[in-house]
Amino acid sequence: MDRESTTGGTPAAVDLEPDRAHSARMYDYYLGGVTNFPADREAAALALSVFPNLLAAARINRRFMHRSTRFLAQQGITQFLDIGTGIPTSPNLHEVAQQTNPTARVVYTDNDAIVLTHARALLRSTPEGRTAYVHADVTDPERLLASEQVRGTLDLRRPVALSLNALLHFVPDELGAHRIVEHLKARLPSGSTLTVSHVTPDFDPEGIARLTDAYRAAGTAGQARTREEVLRFFAGWELLDPGLVPTHRWHPDPGDLAHTITDAESSGYAAVARKP
Ligand code: SAH
Repeated sequence: MDRESTTGGTPAAVDLEPDRAHSARMYDYYLGGVTNFPADREAAALALSVFPNLLAAARINRRFMHRSTRFLAQQGITQFLDIGTGIPTSPNLHEVAQQTNPTARVVYTDNDAIVLTHARALLRSTPEGRTAYVHADVTDPERLLASEQVRGTLDLRRPVALSLNALLHFVPDELGAHRIVEHLKARLPSGSTLTVSHVTPDFDPEGIARLTDAYRAAGTAGQARTREEVLRFFAGWELLDPGLVPTHRWHPDPGDLAHTITDAESSGYAAVARKP
């Protein structure tokens, strides 16, 4: 289909490193997916044993992606750039956005080869809209923005909804997380939005310390951030109501049963902000 495009080589040429746990596949496991290998399930089981709320937290995070995307599409945003997309899990971001606005255009990005091999599920756009997938690393934001998928799908002179959901806790300060986000923000025009969800130690410091250790032992560096540290990602942009809140409290749908969820179960913050 000419509406589809990916980069990063043919899936057959990709090394999926099945013997090494990958965060994307561990997350897929928490969500009940089947795109994971024994090494991922072993690492996920260890992470769950030290932080049992992780199963709830992953689902709470995914639900936030649905709600925030629907909200932004209802606000009239028609272009979406989603970095750290994860293994496809329906409904994916374009399905939510295009349900409100079938002409919505979505570019997905992840640096995990297995997400690339499953990218076809992300490319089933409505005929009126468009989706694309870029195999890229957020730590090189200029390369990502310069990709033919971004340039051919999105008009960066018009507002874009940038989403970095459950991504930035995999980008420690040493890699310049805040500098990277500022770089992306600077390239988007007024009226663009930034959506972030992020693991925090604020509600269960010991549990999150154990979780961070479990991920490090599985080969994935991570950094949970405090409210202040997550808030800094939005610097200079206007936080939309209700501001930066525990993820399950961001405009919950009745079906989310938010009143039954504790902040420790969520152990994440989420917000949407708009560029003035
Ligand atoms: N955004 C989705 C998936 C989150 S899982 C959701 O919220 O439901 C985190 C994803 O970030 C994984 O798929 C992982 O491969 C990806 N990721 C981690 N580090 C990355 C990096 N440096 N660049 C791009 N993607 C990255």
